[in-house]
Amino acid sequence: MDDLTKILQVTTTHDQLTGAVNTPIQLSATFAQTDFDNLGEFDYARSGNPTRLAAENAVATLEHATHGYLFSSGMAAISSVLMTFSAGDHIVVTSHVYGGTFRVLTDVLSRFGITHTFVDCGELADVAAAILPNTKAIYIETPSNPTLSVTDIAGIVAIAKAHDLLTIADNTFMSPALQKPLDFGVDIVVHSATKFLAGHSDILAGAAVTKRDDLAEQIYFIQNAVGATLSVLDSWILLRGMKTLGVRMAQASASATQLAAWLTDQPQVNAVHYPGSPTHPNYQVQLTQAQNGGAVLSFDVGSIENARQLVKHLTIPIYSVSLGGVESIISYPPKMSHAELSEDEQVASGITPGLLRYSVGLESITDIIADLANAFSYLGEE
Ligand SMILES: *Cc1c(COP(=O)(O)O)cnc(C)c1O
Repeated sequence: MDDLTKILQVTTTHDQLTGAVNTPIQLSATFAQTDFDNLGEFDYARSGNPTRLAAENAVATLEHATHGYLFSSGMAAISSVLMTFSAGDHIVVTSHVYGGTFRVLTDVLSRFGITHTFVDCGELADVAAAILPNTKAIYIETPSNPTLSVTDIAGIVAIAKAHDLLTIADNTFMSPALQKPLDFGVDIVVHSATKFLAGHSDILAGAAVTKRDDLAEQIYFIQNAVGATLSVLDSWILLRGMKTLGVRMAQASASATQLAAWLTDQPQVNAVHYPGSPTHPNYQVQLTQAQNGGAVLSFDVGSIENARQLVKHLTIPIYSVSLGGVESIISYPPKMSHAELSEDEQVASGITPGLLRYSVGLESITDIIADLANAFSYLGEE
């Protein structure tokens, strides 16, 4: 079945009691039990509730997983997955990891004896070389933020399997509509469902999915034990947002492809980073593992002054952090997502002073380009 059909099928769960086509919002912390000795499927809402379960099944189905778990944010999902490891365990992590994940690894898990090594996962030989006797997993993110570098998922999985390690992938930037890492042998996929899955910049949500029963059991244990679960109302809003995931990703990625091509031709643009551009160094890898380059790109306008001028004159994208909403969002990574890095560290990671990240929304691409063309006309003035 095509994804567009499947999305509607898994997000429209008919209520068995009334036939309501939308999932009922079951606001209940506790569920009455009918059998004195055996509890029913639902007892206490942290352990499970029907609205969250419907959304969990929807995300799992779209990722080709068999088990899905929803959390109160992407960081809650990622932290909960990482909490399945124990003191003494080591994880090889992409050096382009999301800033929040970086913080949890370096400042939280390190205090509990879970160690890590950051590696540029574009270099498969370096990944293999970073594996220690106590390594338990490789953690990747592709494409990465904000330079949109692409990791060869199958290449990483081959290394992981050869060393009996798990592979964990953050699939936030592509969403399951465009990329399904489990199909390439990844064991656990995590998401900031705040972004494309929910799609409307309205809720915070996180997801973790897997096809392995043993890993599902461990993730569920942490979800229930720690309790960073997604609320009933937010589960419903996530389901509602996911109904249009297919069309949103199709339109936004088509617009991003056009925008990347247009930006490449602008004299004020030094570099365009978009995995859907034939000039991207890993374009071929991207096409083997994803439908297209996605809806996020970044580009360099040479200097912080130019970046500031451009943002000042743009009228369509919101100037903010985050991505994956129906509205376009432009952000300035050096002062936003990567502000914690020193200037040297930023440049080493490809985060140059003129770098802007554009999350393409559902506005007309003609308007998006005209808005940028107008803003570019002010560069170099003042
Ligand atoms: C936003 C984001 C996260 C964190 O998710 P929250 O929902 O903000 O907690 C993790 N990974 C990536 C790639 C993200 O973009």
